[in-house]
Amino acid sequence: MREIKRLREMYLYSLKAKSHGKKVGFVPTMGALHEGHLSLVEEAKRRCDIVVVSIFVNPLQFAPSEDFARYPRNLRRDRQLLKNFGVDVLFLPDAGQLYPPGFKTFVEVESLPKKMCGRTRPTHFRGVTTVVAKLFSLVNPDLAFFGEKDFQQQRIIRQMAADLNLPVEVVALPTVREFDGLAMSSRNAYLNPRERKAAPVLYRALSLAQREVQGGERDVNKILFRLRSLIGSEPLVRLDYLLAVDPETLQEVKQFKGKVLFALAAYIGKTRLIDNVVVG
Ligand code: AMP
Repeated sequence: MREIKRLREMYLYSLKAKSHGKKVGFVPTMGALHEGHLSLVEEAKRRCDIVVVSIFVNPLQFAPSEDFARYPRNLRRDRQLLKNFGVDVLFLPDAGQLYPPGFKTFVEVESLPKKMCGRTRPTHFRGVTTVVAKLFSLVNPDLAFFGEKDFQQQRIIRQMAADLNLPVEVVALPTVREFDGLAMSSRNAYLNPRERKAAPVLYRALSLAQREVQGGERDVNKILFRLRSLIGSEPLVRLDYLLAVDPETLQEVKQFKGKVLFALAAYIGKTRLIDNVVVG
């Protein structure tokens, strides 16, 4: 596995691979890798000739009060995992090179980032779209792989790629979960044993939404009420938001029709976790 830190080297590597007719797959991550990330890598391996994985804890997507400084970092372990999975390039861009003094350009998708996570984290998605646009222009992938765990993020990136005519196919893959349903996340490492025990209530609630719809319930507010009471029964968990939205427009829905995304964010102690399911 080749390790690339310099932006120009990454750009030239990809250019050369593509000139030889290779299909380049890209998996952007912030590291502290788990099976969720690795499921994206596996799919990239299946569908592409060259797989590039980036690890970059992007300061631009963290607000000053958030966990940038203590975000889990374990490069040695990540490197070994990616090597074992047959990744071709580990791209470790340097923050100083990505955001040199005088950096002034941001990429911002309108309206989609306003609700859900964007309400609590108003500058988050601008940081995400800016870094992903920059990484896309450096790696120039044919396909880029994202997790539906971050549903709003993949929707916004898909919009950005379409609106900017970026020559990349954005692929979204299902959420990988722990044995008890908790969505895998690098932030799960923050949970103490009591919090970890409480956390699966989030997926239990989302599964309840699935069952309610399968049972014929069409009133979304009633479903949300039942989910809120289930989550409310777990004293360690504090909901940030729980919404039922159209998976395409991310606008709230009242009546069940077609597909509905039930999405939530919740604090367990100081840790903020997100999860979602698409029903229908
Ligand atoms: P992160 O390192 O948190 O920025 O995540 C990198 C990529 O992995 C994003 O596209 C995430 O949506 C995806 N991802 C994170 N957790 C999971 C999971 N549990 N299942 C599938 N994909 C995930």
